[in-house]
Order: sequence, then C-alpha cells, then structure tokens
Amino acid sequence: MSYTYETIGDILRLAEEHQISFGDVVIRHELEAYDRSEEEIVAEIKRRLAIFESSIQDGLNHIERTQSNMSGGDAATLHAGKPRLMSDIAYKAMTYAIAVNEANAKMFRIVACPTAGSCGVMPGAVQAVAEEYQLDADAMVKGFLASSGVGNVVANRACVAGAVGGCQAEIGTAACMAASAIVEMLGGTPYQVVQAIALGMKNLLGLACDPVAGLVEVPCVKRNGVYAVHAITAAELALAGIESQIPADDVIEAMNNIGRAMPAALRETSDGGLAVTPTGLAIAERVQSL
Ligand code: SF4
Repeated sequence: MSYTYETIGDILRLAEEHQISFGDVVIRHELEAYDRSEEEIVAEIKRRLAIFESSIQDGLNHIERTQSNMSGGDAATLHAGKPRLMSDIAYKAMTYAIAVNEANAKMFRIVACPTAGSCGVMPGAVQAVAEEYQLDADAMVKGFLASSGVGNVVANRACVAGAVGGCQAEIGTAACMAASAIVEMLGGTPYQVVQAIALGMKNLLGLACDPVAGLVEVPCVKRNGVYAVHAITAAELALAGIESQIPADDVIEAMNNIGRAMPAALRETSDGGLAVTPTGLAIAERVQSL
C-alpha cells in the first residue's frame, strides 16, 4: 500500500479511498518513507508543539523592544486587553502569533513553519483554537500532521521563501498550514481541509515581501497576527461547507507563478514596497547607524 503523495489532490484521494483523515495520510506516508515509528513521529511533533507554547510565552513575557526598536511588547499589550470587535479565538490567535514573531525577532527559539518570518501563524491559530475548544495534545498532533502535508506539497511544488515567491509564499503557506490544521483538529473532512487550503491561499495571492531595513520585523510581526486570523477565516468557511471554485493545487500553482513573476524588489531585497517608503528608508538609515 502506498501513501506517496505529490499534490494536495493526492492526499485527498488517498484519504477518501482509505476513509482516513488528511493528517492520517501524511503520517502513513511518513511511516512508509522513513525509518521511524509512529511513537517517534508523534513524540517529535509534541516536542515542536511544546516549542510553540514556549515561544508564545517568550513573546508575551519579554516586553522589551528589539534593538531596531521596530517591534516588541505589542503581544503583551494585546494580552492585557480584550477584543472589541473580534471573537475571543481570533483575538487570541492574533495575540499569540504576534508573540511568537516578537520572540523570533529577539532570537528566542521558534519552530520555522514553514519559515522563521512566518513562524507565528501556525502556533497562534492552532494554540488559540485548541485552548478555546479544550482540545488535547493528540488533536493538535493530528492538526500538525495535516499542516505538514500542506507544507510538504507547497515546498516541493512551489516555494515557501519570500526571496523566491514573496510573502504569499511564506505567510501564505503558513496560513494554509494553519487553516488545514484547524479543520483537521475540529474533525472536518479531508475535502474540507482541502477547501481551507485553497481559500486560505487564494485570498492572499500577490502579497509582497518588503521588510524594512532587511529585518524580519516590519511588516512581518503584525502580519503574522493578521494572517493567523485569516487562517481561522479560511477554516471557518471550509467547515461551513463553502467550496473554492479553484482547486487547491491550482491555487498553489498560481501562487508559484505569481511569485516568480514578481519583481525582485518585492522578494525580500528590501528594494521595494514598505521598505522604500520615506519612513522605511529613514528607519533603515537609523538601524544602519546602530
Ligand atoms: S515580509 Fe518577507 S521577511 Fe517578512 S514575513 Fe513576509 S516573506 Fe518573511
């Protein structure tokens, strides 16, 4: 029996054929392809989930600003406040995601999922949903597995680096991973997981990578917060039975094509977008003189 997959469509087909979940296909493939037991894989995922939690705490508890003074302390401010417009889950996801990215900007340990710049989206969204729904570690492991399959497919068939595909490749992939994890954790069908991926990615296509002063802080830190909520939106749509007219694999291909068509100025060079606004340039000059 082969659980080998190359596309999101392959994972869906295997899940439906064997009447298992999206994440189950991913772990069965891992067991086939690598010399590791299920216990070892689950233990490794739990280790990373623990890092999710500790990076959230690092971000919430270390309120000092970064050396560049571009970020730091915002997650703690949000944590001390309360939502005025958002649901508790969305507010918490936003807060946690910003916390993790603030932790990253201060060199605390994070899980790159898929990259360091986008490291807040998954833990923010997944932890918030798990806490609000009181889901246990096993449910989170299932979500993590589903998101791993998404990350694998995007990395192998498209790109996950801002330098290659813009921020849509980094935070876009992170949002799709988080959306798939949420649907899986909440017991959605494999088809719904796939809709969440498509809806997540297609609604952020074209997102530029334009970090001010070449540092992963502006717009990255708050962007993680915004797209953690976006991931929840995509998951909510999918769980409600809303379908994407464009299949997930086509959306991923479109993301790849758009990314590679983007000018280099919008792919992590800091030669375009927010990085070259008058304020962005002034910050860069100040940072260079530190
Ligand atoms: S703007 Fe660029 S560096 Fe920042 S998170 Fe997005 S892809 Fe990463």
